[in-house]
Amino acid sequence: MAEVEASTSAGSQNEEQPDNSVEIHSIDTTENESEEPKQKRIKLETKINEADEKLEDRLNGILRCTVCLDLPRVSMYQCTNGHLMCAMCFSHLLADARLKDEASTCPNCRCEISKHLCSRNLAVEKAVSELPTECHFCTQQLPRHMMDRHEEYSCLERITSCSYERIGCPWKGPYHELKGHEEVCIHPKKTGAEIMDTLIAYDNKRAEEMKIYDKIFNMLSYEKITFLDLQLKPYRTDDFITRLYYETSRFTAFNFQWVVKAKVNDDMKNPALACQRYITYQLILKSRVQNPVDIHFLMVQGPYGEMKICPAVNQHQFTNENNESQYQVLPLNSPNECNKLLAAKTIGVRLIVLQVTS
Ligand SMILES: [Zn+2]
Ligand SMILES: [Zn+2]
Ligand SMILES: [Zn+2]
Ligand SMILES: [Zn+2]
Repeated sequence: MAEVEASTSAGSQNEEQPDNSVEIHSIDTTENESEEPKQKRIKLETKINEADEKLEDRLNGILRCTVCLDLPRVSMYQCTNGHLMCAMCFSHLLADARLKDEASTCPNCRCEISKHLCSRNLAVEKAVSELPTECHFCTQQLPRHMMDRHEEYSCLERITSCSYERIGCPWKGPYHELKGHEEVCIHPKKTGAEIMDTLIAYDNKRAEEMKIYDKIFNMLSYEKITFLDLQLKPYRTDDFITRLYYETSRFTAFNFQWVVKAKVNDDMKNPALACQRYITYQLILKSRVQNPVDIHFLMVQGPYGEMKICPAVNQHQFTNENNESQYQVLPLNSPNECNKLLAAKTIGVRLIVLQVTS
């Protein structure tokens, strides 16, 4: 330590570290001599950095999904030979296989893969969560498991809205400029009359969003209402190129027989080639009717399902001639939800049916 202080006071422009002081220098070290250990140190530091980077890169290469070559923050699955697949690619592969009517296989070793044959790899998931990633706003590197919190609450560059957004301030900017903006923001000084338009627009937007829930809430009071937990099972058409479709067994509602049919990407010839997939479904009346039957129906998640679905009400007037409703898109939250459903053997849904009586 004494040597470090001495060399500093001697005017050499280095910040010596104890490592270098192992090599004993005399107090009157010349500039040239004192530069030697500095260069050594820089070399040593860059070597350590390079090694760090390489380890990180190597781990990225080892722990990433073998399909999308990415390190997504989702569950990691492995085939019986240990090849890693992220949850999204895993369900995509299983869905692909179902659409092509083939057994699903690991893209690396061709061994069979399925929900039962493959397992999650928690060690990989944890290791991935420790690997650094870059903040979208400030480019700071942090372990993946800390990034959500950083980007949402603590990053100084994260994009924020003015606190007076609700009364019409359109300002958006980095968090560190927020305080400065709010001190000069004109919106809190506006009069009640001046902000009325903004409030009305806000209320209208909210009312529009609430309409669907109001509609469903009102429908719950209908005289004729029932719900059915259905299993959509996969079948194939007997066309030259067979196509996958789903159908439930017949069920009874309001003393009539019904069936639900579903298909993937409408009438697309080969949905296995499509990246974005969606499911459409229709309600079919299987009984003869005396009078038109006016039906409202909506699909929700089944009691043991994990399908993320948005509420949407459909309507159809069933007659003997017009006994099939239009195909309606199953309003899933994301295309990956669709793959998750296709990956499973059957699709469990709850259908709520209401008959409109005058
Ligand atoms: Zn993947
Ligand atoms: Zn494999
Ligand atoms: Zn940041
Ligand atoms: Zn403002």
